[in-house]
Amino acid sequence: MEENNKMQLMIEQAERDLLHTYNRYQVVLDHGEGMYLYDVNGKKYLDFMAGIAVFALGYGNQAYNDALKAQIDKILHTSNYFYNAPAIEAAARLKKVTGMDRVFFTNSGAEAVEGALKAAMKHAWLKDGKERHQVIAMENSFHGRTYGALSVTGNPHYREPFGQMPCDVQFARLNDLESVKALVGGETCAVIVEPVQGEGGLMPASEEFLKGLRALCDEKGILLIFDEIQCGLGRTGYMCAWHRYGVRPDIMTCAKALGCGVPVGAFLLTEEVGQSSLTAGDHGTTYGGNPFACAAVNAVLDQYESLDLVNHVRETAPYLTKVLDDLAAEFACVTERRGVGFMQGLVFDRPVGPIIADAMENGLIMINAGSNILRFVPALVTREEHIDEMAQILRGAIGRNC
Ligand SMILES: *Cc1c(COP(=O)(O)O)cnc(C)c1O
Repeated sequence: MEENNKMQLMIEQAERDLLHTYNRYQVVLDHGEGMYLYDVNGKKYLDFMAGIAVFALGYGNQAYNDALKAQIDKILHTSNYFYNAPAIEAAARLKKVTGMDRVFFTNSGAEAVEGALKAAMKHAWLKDGKERHQVIAMENSFHGRTYGALSVTGNPHYREPFGQMPCDVQFARLNDLESVKALVGGETCAVIVEPVQGEGGLMPASEEFLKGLRALCDEKGILLIFDEIQCGLGRTGYMCAWHRYGVRPDIMTCAKALGCGVPVGAFLLTEEVGQSSLTAGDHGTTYGGNPFACAAVNAVLDQYESLDLVNHVRETAPYLTKVLDDLAAEFACVTERRGVGFMQGLVFDRPVGPIIADAMENGLIMINAGSNILRFVPALVTREEHIDEMAQILRGAIGRNC
C-alpha cells in the first residue's frame, strides 16, 4: 500500500511539472531484463511494446551496454566539424545492411523525415528551378510531429490545430496506385510511403503497389521515399521492409530500433540523389551522428549479427501470426489480424483502452494503434514461450472486456 502511494506521488509530481501532451499509463518504470520490465514497486511486466518498436534487443543486453559504457569513457560528442570513428564505421555498416549509398545521421525519426523531404525538394529545385514543389503522401500515414513530418502525416487531427503546413502535400490511398497517379502533376517532387504503416493501423503496402509506385516515379522523374522508421531493421523478417519486394527507394528513413534506446535516426540516399541534393551548408545538426549515438548503432548491428535477429524474426513470426489468428477466431469482438513479422495488429470492433489497462494490471504491456487496434511490436528476441505467455494474459483481458 505504502509502495503504491510512492508511485502515485511520483505520478502526481510528474503531472505538475511535465507538459501534459501524453495520457500515460499510470506506471513508473524502473528497469528491464530481457523481455520483462519492472516498475518502481518491483511489479513485473511482459513487454510487447518494446518502447514503441525500439528495444529490438530486449533489455539488459550486456554486450550492447558494455559498448555504450566504453564509448562514454572515450568521448560522447565532437560536433560535425570533425570526423569520428564510430560514425565512420556506422555509416559503412548501415549502407551495407540497407543497400543504400549515402547516410545522414539524425537524432530522431521525425528529423530523418525532415532531412528526406529537404533532400527531395532540393533535388527537384536543382532539376527544374521551380519555386514550388509538391509531395504526395498516404492517408493514415504517420511520419512524426515536427512541422515537415507533420505535413506528410495523413491523420488530419494531428495537423488541424497547427495552421499552415510548410510542405504542399496531397494525400493518396495506400495500395491504390490510381489514387497516386491522379495527384501527380508538374510540381510533384516526391512520394513518401511507409512500406508497412505503423501508427496508422499496421497496414502493409502490397508488392503490386510498391512496384507500381517505383515505375510511376521513374517515368515522371519523381523521388520515392520509404519511411522505414518503424518497419525497418528486421521487424518484418527483412533488414528493410522493402527488401522483401526488391523495390529500392531513392531515399529512406530509419530510426526506432537503430539505437535500441539511444536517440538516433538516419536518412539514406542513392548515390544519384546524394550527388544532386543536399550539399555543404544545406543541412546540419549539432548532435546528429555523434560518437555515442553511432557507438550505439554499431553495438546494435553487432547484436543483429551475433543473435541472427532477422532470421529469428522470420522463423518465429509465423507462430505469432498463428496465435493472433487463434485469438481473432476465438473472440467475436476481434474483426481482423493485420501486419507482418513482428509488426502486427488485432483490429477490434471497439476501443482497446480497457483491454490494454486490464492486460497491464495482469502484467502485460501492450500498445494501441489508433483507438481500436492492438499493436504487437515486441523485441526481436521474442521467443515462442513469450508469445504463449502474452496470449494467455491477453485472452483473459479480452474475455473480461468484450
Ligand atoms: C515513430 C515514427 C516516426 C517518428 O519518429 P520519432 O523518433 O518519434 O520522431 C516517423 N515515422 C514512422 C513510420 C514512425 O513509426
